[in-house]
Formats: sequence, C-alpha cells, structure tokens
Amino acid sequence: MKKLYRSKILLLLLGLLLGAALAACAATGPGAAVPGSPGTAVQPPAGAAEETPEQNPDSAASGPAAPDPEAGTAAPPGYTEITLAAAGDVLVHNTIYLGAWDAAAGSYDFRPQYRSVAPLLSSADFAVVDLETTMGGPGFSYSGYPCFNSPDELAAALKDAGIDAVTAANNHRMDTGRKGFFHTIETARASGLEILGVRAAETELPCYIRDIKGVRLAFINFSYCGRSVDGGKNFNGLPLPLDMTNLVNGFVPEEGAAAAAAEIGAVVDRARELGARGFIVFLHWGYEYQRQPNDFQRELARLLVEQGVTAIIGGHPHVIQSAEVLPGPAGVRVPVFYSLGNFISDQRLETLDNIHTEQGMIAWLKLRGYADGRVEAAEAWYDPTWVMKHYEGGRSVYAIIPSLPALAAPGDYPFLSAAELERIRTGVRQTEELIPPLDLSPP
Ligand SMILES: [Zn+2]
Repeated sequence: MKKLYRSKILLLLLGLLLGAALAACAATGPGAAVPGSPGTAVQPPAGAAEETPEQNPDSAASGPAAPDPEAGTAAPPGYTEITLAAAGDVLVHNTIYLGAWDAAAGSYDFRPQYRSVAPLLSSADFAVVDLETTMGGPGFSYSGYPCFNSPDELAAALKDAGIDAVTAANNHRMDTGRKGFFHTIETARASGLEILGVRAAETELPCYIRDIKGVRLAFINFSYCGRSVDGGKNFNGLPLPLDMTNLVNGFVPEEGAAAAAAEIGAVVDRARELGARGFIVFLHWGYEYQRQPNDFQRELARLLVEQGVTAIIGGHPHVIQSAEVLPGPAGVRVPVFYSLGNFISDQRLETLDNIHTEQGMIAWLKLRGYADGRVEAAEAWYDPTWVMKHYEGGRSVYAIIPSLPALAAPGDYPFLSAAELERIRTGVRQTEELIPPLDLSPP
C-alpha cells in the first residue's frame, strides 16, 4: 500500500465537554517530510482514518481523499461540521467541447471529463467550480479563446459531477453579450446549479445564502473588471451595459484594494443582516501565469479578513498560486487559496510550454458552525488534480485526474501511461512545494 499522499493538516478541537485539548496530524506527498506543527503526528498508516474516531467515526470508510459528507452529524456537541470543496477554472477551449461531442447521440457529453473527480466532488456538502465560459444558447456558434461559448450540456455535466454551484463573476462573463449572459444564468439554474457572482435581476441577492446542516452560509463571488469611459464596467474590454451594472459583482483593481474591499464588504454586510454566519468569498483576480499572488491580492485578502470573512478562494491566473492562513478578528484563522489553477482547459506543457497550467486542485474546507452562531474554518487542505489529454479517433479527449488516488492506485487508471503518472507525480510535488500544509490552529 502506498502512503497516504494528500496534503493536509488538521486541527482537532475536542468537544466542549472535554475542555480544550489540541491534536493535529499531517499527511503529505510521496517521500516528502513535512515539518509538523507542535504536537503533530505525521503519516497515519494507509487506510487509517485521518480524524480521530471521536471526531468522525465514518471517516475510515470514506478513504483518504473523500471527506465524509455526514461528518457533521457525528460531531461532538457544540458545533456542526460542514465540508466545502472548490475547484478552479473550467476553461472550455474549442478542443474541450469538440472532444465532448458524442456522434452517436448527436449531442455533447462532458461527463466523461469529470468522471474521475465526481466521487470527490460529490462527497462535499457543497462543491463549487469557476465557469470560465458562457453558455450563450441559440444564435451563437460555439467558441473557445478569446470569446468562450460552450454547449448548454456543460451545465448538466457539472451538476452530474457533484458540483452544486458555479462562480460566474469572471472576465469572460460578457463573451456572448447580454443575450448570452442571461442564457448562461438560465441554463445553469435549469440544470440545478446555483450561479454565483451574477444575478438575472436586481431583485435577487448579490450573494447566495444557503443553510447547510442548519448553518447559514453566504457564498460571495467577485471578479476584477475594467472601468469604461462612461463610468460603467467592462470584462475583458467587453462592456457591461449600464443597465446591467449591478448584475455582475466586479471591482476595479486600479481603483485600489480598499475600494474593492468596500464593494465586497457591502455584500458581506448584507448577508450578515440576512442571518449568514459564515462568508466564503470567491475572487477572480491576480496576474495570469504568476504562481505567487500580487500585492493587490494580498492587500484585498487582508482587508476582507478584517471584515470577518471565513475563507477566501481565488482563481483566474491559470496556475495554482500559493495559499496562506491569515489572522482574523478574535483569533480566528482564515485560509486563503489565492488561485486554484485550471480545473480543465487545453492549457498545458505542449500548448503553452507551461506545465503548471495543466495542474489544478480541489481545495477543501471543513467549517465548524458553533451553537453560539460562530462559523470558523477548522481545516483547509487540497487534492491536486491534473488534466489528461489523449488523441483518440482524430480528436482530443480530456479527463480531470485526481492525482493522489491515481498515484496510490494506478491500476484504477489503466488509461494513464507511466509517463503520464510521472507527470502527475511532478505536479503533486510542485504543488506541495508551493503550498505547505495549512495550519488553522490558534496562534
Ligand atoms: Zn479568468
């Protein structure tokens, strides 16, 4: 049996009845020695539960890469546990939808692209990816870069993969104009997906609020955008019509992090008024292909943490960026994943001479909702992913591969060559070098 690979560090706060006691464990990638935090036990044996039985009696059966969606039901008194998963950009280049064409059915079938990660995503209480394309509907031909327009079938495939919501505040929002904007929202909703960061009318909330296991969480999504000469906003230079200004959550980086934080903070305040106690903020930001966040990202993250957000998850740079834990009010620790990279795209070593563009991740958060109303991130970790691309029958076939399960049990992935497994191993190593285990224990 291979060792447990997944990068993870977790803080175990024992139940209130037991008083405060801390324990932590960490597991890491192949052969890498991870310096543990004080009191850390490293490398649980393969197949062993990563949580103590007291914390999560079901976890032993759930496997190393699949947090148990029912974990909260067995939590000690005093708090409820909620597991959130987030993956990066679904960037649908033309070869991605051409590869999804099902000639026999006469339609597009994207489900095989997500088949290997669907069990992971489905195991979360709530799973989110970034919709870096539009589903413009009738009147538009399908297209990839620079103006993305994908078949409507994509939405159902994402839902089928266990994804609950897509973030839609991003620089490609206006790629199919006003008509495509509304058709994208309608198509996502018709497939059962929540669509974040946009709204079809100003009467809708600027964020999505959901009670999960009795804990009220707000999912807030904003994108960088440009300021047009008429005072309106534009996305990738495509204007957002003035009568739609409030239908997309956007901030203008050139106007400063404080202004962006104020815009986002107003939505946090609105969600708080509506009873939300946890605030998960998804931001589309940063410089493309940079593996470290820029000053604006760091400053905006710091300002949002001051406002009491629970976690920050970013995307857009097409590569994974580093992550960190920021100190929040009252000793709260806030995980910040600056960029999750591409979840699926045609960007890779062969097309861009950039191996990092084919590496992605599913970021995980375990939230605790306490009886007194507080919601905090108790654990944050990630599962590296890798985009497979094969040439079959004259076209490209893609699949998102969960790296750790593939390396641990390559027999379950017989379609991967030894060279591909090595590339996956490289991706895991590079990601772990970039993002050390996140320690959410109190200072
Ligand atoms: Zn983007």
